[in-house]
Amino acid sequence: MGILSDPSNIFERLDQLEATICEACVRSGRRREEVELVAASKKQTVEVLRVAWDAGVGVFGENRVQEAREKIPLMPSGVRWHLIGHLQRNKVRMALPLFDMVHGVDSVELAHAMDRVAAELGLFPKVLLQVNVSGEGTKFGFEREELKRELDGLLSLGRVEVHGLMTMAPYAEDAEEARPYFVALRELREELEVRGGVKLPHLSMGMSGDYVVAIEEGATLIRIGTALFGARG
Ligand SMILES: *Cc1c(COP(=O)(O)O)cnc(C)c1O
Repeated sequence: MGILSDPSNIFERLDQLEATICEACVRSGRRREEVELVAASKKQTVEVLRVAWDAGVGVFGENRVQEAREKIPLMPSGVRWHLIGHLQRNKVRMALPLFDMVHGVDSVELAHAMDRVAAELGLFPKVLLQVNVSGEGTKFGFEREELKRELDGLLSLGRVEVHGLMTMAPYAEDAEEARPYFVALRELREELEVRGGVKLPHLSMGMSGDYVVAIEEGATLIRIGTALFGARG
């Protein structure tokens, strides 16, 4: 456990988060049920996760397949697990049975690998396509134009179900700086829905520093680590 993540504070932090999420929903004319909190639990121990579960957190987002595989059997079976970090192709077989949703599908090759393995395992993985809206070289994800070109192929996979888009805004002190990236993801979603003739209901965007802005711009999944657990040790 990180020395700063005293689990006894999780109830308080969750209350505070809830209040802020509700305010953001009210301000933007959205219902609270439209936004799901995904607790970004990387590097947190199972003891800490249990406290969060007891406090009412139902969805945990892990970054690494191996770490999740160790934690999942130690947690109640009602927990839902999302993979929010990068998925390597050689981890697909291990990952698919573990997660209810994979947020970071960032290449056609990965989507195809997932589709093949899912067919073998008899699964229908729910995925979000990660978009690099900022164009930062350090970020994983499709470029916007690339995704428009590849959309038909991604939607025609027999097993992989595309449920929406995910992005990470560049780190900034001021959350307002993230707004243009969240707007861009929402607009891209609308464009892809028209092009593909599909619904892409989920937008996974917003972290501890910028989730309020993300909710205002249409986030349906916010990935919150520090604001819930405290600083990672
Ligand atoms: C760690 C992580 C988060 C949460 O970050 P915080 O700033 O601690 O809320 C969200 N998304 C991804 C992909 C992460 O790796």
